[in-house]
Amino acid sequence: MLLDQDFLRYGRQLLLPQWGESGQNLLAQKRVVIIGLGGLGCPVLQYLAGAGIGGFRLVDADAVSLSNLPRQTLYTPADVGRSKAEAAAEWVGRHNPAIKVEVETRMATASTLPRLLTGADLVLDCTDNLTTRHAINAACVKAGKPLVSGAAIGWQGQLLVVQPQSADSACFACLSDPDEHTQSASCAEAGIVGPVVGTVGTLQALLAIQLLLGLDSPAGLHRFDGLHFQWQRFALAKSPECPVCANALCE
Ligand SMILES: [Zn+2]
Repeated sequence: MLLDQDFLRYGRQLLLPQWGESGQNLLAQKRVVIIGLGGLGCPVLQYLAGAGIGGFRLVDADAVSLSNLPRQTLYTPADVGRSKAEAAAEWVGRHNPAIKVEVETRMATASTLPRLLTGADLVLDCTDNLTTRHAINAACVKAGKPLVSGAAIGWQGQLLVVQPQSADSACFACLSDPDEHTQSASCAEAGIVGPVVGTVGTLQALLAIQLLLGLDSPAGLHRFDGLHFQWQRFALAKSPECPVCANALCE
């Protein structure tokens, strides 16, 4: 039930017919896992905490570095050398101490992911390497957890929603074979534009809110070219040969 201060804090979003008091109560009961608290995870956490999500599990094994500050908007120079997940959790405490936060400072791997996804209503992949991205995708498909995956490099961004509970929803492995693409360029090698990764993270938060409110979310794959300011949307068909999701519902 919403308190007086909740009506004051969330008043502008309560006005939306698709949101309202019932939507706000729903969001307060939701538990979200954010894997990666870098350039994607920072705006994801800021907007989802701002929206009134009830609890987060923040997963990141990295420490803040000076080279993160141009785009990882939660951190200041005083955070350099500190755990990103712990610094991000402290930000949540300052923003809204009513939000529950759990911190995990070990890497998300195929073996730790089942535990990390326990109790989650939705998962946000805000990581920066393909191996972890495939592991998160496989764990979400297996556990039946909705996944909003974001990626950015250079001037390019990408968004993908995976809804394993929907029989026709494609997954990340339908798009990219986990066995063939284990290496990819990193932001440290190829560079990254702050507002591009910030745009992708902000839209991950928007997609997450839509899914958590039970609204229709734009399915498929979305790509953003920040250099030429162009969006592309691709219909993504579930692959009958996908090693991850083709037989997931039959297990
Ligand atoms: Zn698949």
